[in-house]
Amino acid sequence: MKGRELRQKFLEYFKSKGHTIVKSSSLIPANDPTLLFTNAGMNQFKDVFLGKEKRDYTRAASCQKCVRAGGKHNDLENVGKTARHHTFFEMLGNFSFGDYFKKEAIEFAWEFITEVLKIDKSRLYVSVYKDDDEAFEIWNKHIGIDKNRIYRFGEKDNFWQMGETGPCGPCSEIFYDHGEQYSCGKPSCDVGCDCDRFVEIWNLVFMQYNKDEEGNLTPLPKPSIDTGMGLERLAAVMQGVLSNYDTDLFQSIIQTIAKASGKEYGKNQSDDIAMKVIADHLRATVCLITDGVVPSNEGRGYVLRRIMRRAIRYGKKLGLEIPYLYNFVDAVVEELGVAYPELIESKNNVKKLIKIEEEQFNKTLENGLKVLESMISESPERLSAEQVFKLYDTFGFPVDLVEDVCEERGVKVDRKGFEKLLEETKEITRKKSKVKVDLTLSDAFKTLENYPETIFTGYKDFESEGKVL
Ligand code: ATP
Ligand code: MG
Ligand code: MG
Ligand code: MG
Repeated sequence: MKGRELRQKFLEYFKSKGHTIVKSSSLIPANDPTLLFTNAGMNQFKDVFLGKEKRDYTRAASCQKCVRAGGKHNDLENVGKTARHHTFFEMLGNFSFGDYFKKEAIEFAWEFITEVLKIDKSRLYVSVYKDDDEAFEIWNKHIGIDKNRIYRFGEKDNFWQMGETGPCGPCSEIFYDHGEQYSCGKPSCDVGCDCDRFVEIWNLVFMQYNKDEEGNLTPLPKPSIDTGMGLERLAAVMQGVLSNYDTDLFQSIIQTIAKASGKEYGKNQSDDIAMKVIADHLRATVCLITDGVVPSNEGRGYVLRRIMRRAIRYGKKLGLEIPYLYNFVDAVVEELGVAYPELIESKNNVKKLIKIEEEQFNKTLENGLKVLESMISESPERLSAEQVFKLYDTFGFPVDLVEDVCEERGVKVDRKGFEKLLEETKEITRKKSKVKVDLTLSDAFKTLENYPETIFTGYKDFESEGKVL
């Protein structure tokens, strides 16, 4: 079953159960300074859960655009490494605002995956929050799941929070076993393992509390339900593949990249990683720009810039010549435009903006290389932490590239010292950092019309690990 059919089936199922279908909200959360990007389907309903806002429905379902590249839920570093994490992904969700609670939420989820989608029950496991005997009993007695297929996990896995503050509650998750051949081999490999064998497909959150800045939990006006299931993970299960990247949702994009680079997907591990990272980051880039984020040196725009530059660097590894990323926008819009028509409208502007960013980054790389060369001739044995930091901070030159070039030339690099300097700067900027309001897309284009040659002003407002750029 194709990704787009799954999206449809989910929404139809919940519609038949009295849910109102609500459109995905923007990736820029509306009026919520606590959140960098929309990271879950429940975000747009936050105030409804809190009882601050009323809607004319008490049941809703959606397919929500999400980005997890910063803040509490940050999966940037996982991309390319796991088969199941993306920066941008689509979250299918059903919600109850003081309407049904645990029993019905569990019944709906189980019926949808085992009867509508007919997923093999012998491959499914569930988890509940450690003291949630009520959820345990529902799974065991009411649904009929064997006790040894129900796991009790603690706060980290089974108490869901949107961010540092906001609605939260214990949760129950559904896992799919892709099969023993995919085990990481550790004796402890079981449900909840970090490897890709037991994939978490659906999280049912029993929304019961609001968490404030001091960490106090106060009960919500009415117990509610918030669920989230990753469309890409569900597609992998339904299409019988381990990796989300092997589903139709990604393959059309990956094949376009493979063709352009003259490489074959599935032949060489490092090429595959590069193609996955580019495909992932490009989906995030296209969707973020469409929603009004513009690459810049601060706030959301900085995260976007980091994602874009990371994609560009991986493209260079595949032998692609900058600018190239903008050429792949069509493949993304072809796949996602059916669900999010705004992508079709913004396509041409998105392409232009990506091309400009690529050209700018190329200049950064060229300038940085010149400075690096002169540093190497001054210190042919070893580059100091200060030198690497200067390249990074003043010239925007990625530290990984510094290492690549130095390795080729037999020059050592004080990476540890650099990390330390970076940490100190981060400490200073963290104190004054806040999520900044970004330009709108039309403002950005006005600015771009008179674009001067850009001088990189440094990573002053960043949260970067310094490793990926
Ligand atoms: P994981 O433990 O695998 O990182 P999670 O517990 O952080 O997932 P939730 O916050 O419970 O994820 O989100 C609900 C669902 O969204 C998950 O069950 C999963 O199907 C999907 N999901 C979460 N993060 C990602 C991601 N980075 N990429 C793709 N799908 C994701
Ligand atoms: Mg996670
Ligand atoms: Mg989890
Ligand atoms: Mg989860």
